[in-house]
Amino acid sequence: ISKTPILCAQGLCKNFGGIRAVNNARIEVTQGSITGLIGPNGAGKTTLFNLLSNFIRSDAGEVIFDHHPIHHLPPHQIALQGCVRTFQVARVLSRLTVLENMLLATQNQTGEKFFQVWMKQKQVRKEERENKEKAMAILESVGLVAKAYDYAGALSGGQRKLLEMARALMTHPKLILLDEPAAGVNPTLIGQICEHILNWNKEGISFLIIEHNMDVIMSLCHHVWVLAEGTNLADGTPEEIQQNSAVLEAYLGE
Ligand code: ATP
Repeated sequence: ISKTPILCAQGLCKNFGGIRAVNNARIEVTQGSITGLIGPNGAGKTTLFNLLSNFIRSDAGEVIFDHHPIHHLPPHQIALQGCVRTFQVARVLSRLTVLENMLLATQNQTGEKFFQVWMKQKQVRKEERENKEKAMAILESVGLVAKAYDYAGALSGGQRKLLEMARALMTHPKLILLDEPAAGVNPTLIGQICEHILNWNKEGISFLIIEHNMDVIMSLCHHVWVLAEGTNLADGTPEEIQQNSAVLEAYLGE
């Protein structure tokens, strides 16, 4: 792992009414690393993800991705630059098939608009054929290829998370932000998801992972950042974080 940051954010702030969800937070993800983001409930982790991906505009601060500022870009542009995210509750379109969900990653629209655009453009062109081959190869690698023509709505919660990750791979990401990949997922599938993350990381993709499951954090992460009450509490190797008294106190006080 190099020392070069792929993502570097500082001074990030977000207030919701009187609540300081994120307060002058800083985070860095080293190129090629799997980096963890942990903290007690309500620490501001998901809000920080929303600020990094600009799903929510920050009150202050800057986000540099791959040497370029991205905090002024809309989310789909950030994704096109190579910084893709997933959600705590996987956002897949239930009324589309697994394969169609994969192909949507190559369209540059969001949400319901995705669906409308997709329905209009169902004829297959060359580029779409290539995308389909790629989608099927990725689905094969995550064990979802048999479900390619099933509706995404028929998948289990864990499979939807896997589909969301698989979809993230469609656009050649440099960094994937995963919001609680193990939450609500059965232990067998958690093990498989971790294996996939390690393999994708070996292929050069960096990760920033929010996760409450400490076994997942300890087994995957090279470096961990801890947020509490919207602000930085500590960062270090998983071993350092596990022994940090301020971190233990923040969790005990939960
Ligand atoms: P968890 O681990 O429970 O998912 P978290 O660390 O991801 O928590 P956030 O979801 O970012 O924490 O929430 C941080 C704080 O901001 C909480 O007090 C939450 O209630 C508040 N908050 C988050 N989003 C909003 C919003 N859209 N409007 C108002 N308050 C919000």
